[in-house]
Amino acid sequence: DLSGKTAVITGSNSGIGLGIARELAKAGANVVLNSFTDTKDDHALAQEIADVTGVEARYLKADMSKGEQCRKLIEEAGACDILINNAGIQYVAAIDKFPAEKWDAILAINLSSAFHTTAAALPMMREAGWGRVINIASAHGLTASPYKSAYIAAKHGIVGLTKTVALETAEEPITANAICPGYVLTPLVEAQIPDTMKEYDMGREEVIKNVMLKRQPSKEFATVEQMGGTAVFLCSEAAAQITGTTISVDGGWTAL
Ligand code: NAD
Repeated sequence: DLSGKTAVITGSNSGIGLGIARELAKAGANVVLNSFTDTKDDHALAQEIADVTGVEARYLKADMSKGEQCRKLIEEAGACDILINNAGIQYVAAIDKFPAEKWDAILAINLSSAFHTTAAALPMMREAGWGRVINIASAHGLTASPYKSAYIAAKHGIVGLTKTVALETAEEPITANAICPGYVLTPLVEAQIPDTMKEYDMGREEVIKNVMLKRQPSKEFATVEQMGGTAVFLCSEAAAQITGTTISVDGGWTAL
């Protein structure tokens, strides 16, 4: 039961972040949703979670490509017992055609944001005497594929950051772990289908079956609810000695 705990989930007006927010709220945690926009829909999502679960839910705008805004998000949240570093973007291109500004943006949002939010959140967790840092890495934090150089570098990087945070908090009631999803059919994945079709000269169904799920032996997309359930488990007492590691939720991808 996570009642009384506050979870901050970066990049959570969509996809996996939103799914994790919903599951943490169902488990009783107050949740802070975030993205870089500030629309009616963003705030309505928080309201809907509050209505359905009875927890406190807020939406806070902060751009995770900017270090200061990452730190400010945690300060504005006021409490951060559970930090879910989830915000992420993707770009698909061969390395010699990869735009340098896309490289910089991916490294900033997918990796550096977690450095800034963690730096801001750890003192609050220490003060509260309990904490969970959960980084959303990827099967691409453990393995590589062509045409995703920045994403794969950032995801391998966040696995390394996770281990370091775990060692720096090892003697405290704080854990740090990374969830490594395989393919989950979210807007992020939907958006890379057209570029992947171009790179491989294939149609949509062929890309889904022969490129995306080729590496996922289960031949099924994982779901945002499964990511949420894994996050809730990592917040449980059963997971108190699980730290500095990765949990793959990838239909067997990394077993291949
Ligand atoms: P998504 O596009 O649905 O969600 C990404 C979220 O990040 C959105 O809420 C978006 O608003 C937010 N975001 C993007 N740029 C931001 C910024 N500058 N500041 C604040 N928020 C920002 O994608 P998703 O698939 O749910 O991805 C979520 C995380 O899961 C990412 O880190 C992604 O790399 C990771 N992941 C996804 C898959 C998958 O198959 N979908 C697999 C492995 C890992």
